[in-house]
Amino acid sequence: MTATAPSAPVSPAGPRTILVVEDETSIAEAVATRLRSEGFVVHLAADGPSGVRSCHDLAPDLVVLDLMLPGLDGLDVCRAIQQERPVPVLMLTARDSEADLVEGLATGADDYLTKPFSARELVARVHALLRTVERAASLPPVPTDAPTPVALGDARLDPVTREVTTPAGIVHLTPTEFDLAVHLAHDPRRVFTREELLETVWGYPAGGGTRTVDSHVRALRRKLGNDVVRTVHGVGYAAGTESAGTESAGTESGGAA
Ligand code: CA
Repeated sequence: MTATAPSAPVSPAGPRTILVVEDETSIAEAVATRLRSEGFVVHLAADGPSGVRSCHDLAPDLVVLDLMLPGLDGLDVCRAIQQERPVPVLMLTARDSEADLVEGLATGADDYLTKPFSARELVARVHALLRTVERAASLPPVPTDAPTPVALGDARLDPVTREVTTPAGIVHLTPTEFDLAVHLAHDPRRVFTREELLETVWGYPAGGGTRTVDSHVRALRRKLGNDVVRTVHGVGYAAGTESAGTESAGTESGGAA
């Protein structure tokens, strides 16, 4: 810290690196151009296996990952890279079916965009995801009031280590899933609207895609048990077990078992 301090407001870690795994050249290049203009260092991979390799070699701060890829599809890529190291993943999907989204999010993607999307929206999501992760990483240790673990269903969430333990063992949650779970668990009697959750957990301005919240709730139920989050119809979500097994609001998507 005593050495020459650059005058530019560079973050401690320098420019953020983003890996874009997308086989459609026109989309890949458009995304890369836009992200570069935002100051990111962007690397491209055009198929699944090279996406996994590049992620290993580059250790990017975020991965933009197409769902339909040659070689290894986006879900497999996501699984592989998350196994190695938790990294925020923004999934690009041409399919808009709920089952794919749930699977993608359960696999470790933090958010998704359905094609076609605007470059502006992509940039907003990227910034929001990075903020979420950086906020989590920069939480200072609070000696006097260290956050204590909270419970969500049978799961124990430790805000310090960000570890999730259940009777069945340790469960991996994405950074966003973890924040959502802790947010709900902190105030178990409160019912949150989707907009509130989107704003506080994701940092999105009001009016974003609230289906992202639904998908993450489903991922939490899938990973931690159906009864960890209850749907309050017409309002939103709350922690709790009151109506265990209640199907979530929204589309009847018959749950791919
Ligand atoms: Ca594709």
